[in-house]
Amino acid sequence: MPSLRAAQARSRLQPVDLDLKHHRPYQWIRRGVLTLSVATTVGLPLWHLQVLSRQSAGLAGFGSAAGAFDATTAPPFLGMPGAISIFGLEFVDPLALLGVLLARGPSWALLWAGLPALVLVLVLGRFFCGWLCPYLPILAASNVARWVLARAGLRPPDAAVPRVTSRLILVGVLAGSAVLGVQLLPLIYPPSILGREAFRLVFFGSLSLGTLVVGGAFLFDTFVSRAGFCRSLCPGGAMFSLLSAASVVRVVREPEQCTDCTVCDVVCNLGQRPMTDQLDSGCERCGKCVAACPTDALKLALVFPTARPGPRR
Ligand code: SF4
Ligand code: SF4
Repeated sequence: MPSLRAAQARSRLQPVDLDLKHHRPYQWIRRGVLTLSVATTVGLPLWHLQVLSRQSAGLAGFGSAAGAFDATTAPPFLGMPGAISIFGLEFVDPLALLGVLLARGPSWALLWAGLPALVLVLVLGRFFCGWLCPYLPILAASNVARWVLARAGLRPPDAAVPRVTSRLILVGVLAGSAVLGVQLLPLIYPPSILGREAFRLVFFGSLSLGTLVVGGAFLFDTFVSRAGFCRSLCPGGAMFSLLSAASVVRVVREPEQCTDCTVCDVVCNLGQRPMTDQLDSGCERCGKCVAACPTDALKLALVFPTARPGPRR
């Protein structure tokens, strides 16, 4: 009765209780990429401000008109992780790309900018959520808060919100952008919100309603449903899940080595069930289940559609 045992264990164990002991290089690389992503979100506005300050002080390439921004001395990195320009080359995440195309009409330049990320998602699946999203540290804080509450005897609920909700939100946001001609993603998509809030805070010293949305997501994750925003509400998660249906990078279980200990099911933030091979395109390839498995029964591998096993009951 693996599903019953898993349900019992999930009600006791928390992800914070588990060590990620195995396959550490993968986890170190993932954490390094995530740290870079968060540093980019926070650091780019500060860098831009510093460049502008130097220009306006006449210390570097200041243009003819006092106070004007000199594009020739602009920082080589502009934007935020979901939409960034590096030495003039632009990269846009597929959801932001679609939102802008629907709001403003077709653009070859934008399509080219979105192509690298689109190819990566098609191959690597929903990796953006597990490797790059700047909301992840907030989600980790929510998991710690849930652990503290559970230790204090106040076990927070883990409501199962239908995952179709995030797809409905995705359709609503994209349809709204198309009808209104305005990009609506920055109202609900955490990577966009956090990037904009960082710029607003650095340049204007204030925050907008976006902070309330992110704060609401944290409260929802903490007091209503573990990682519920990423699992069931985020339009980005819905979009990446849809795009990653054909990804060949999968978590694979070696049945002979599996002891049905439930650790992998517990550690997964996104409600996947590696122990019973019940994984779908919602897997973010974070590799935490692989790292937590005490018997090394799990691995991330290339699996082509013809070789995919069905779920174990
Ligand atoms: S795959 Fe590993 S972590 Fe998951 S139930 Fe089996 S032994 Fe435990
Ligand atoms: S199944 Fe494993 S790799 Fe996929 S999201 Fe869950 S913990 Fe991460």
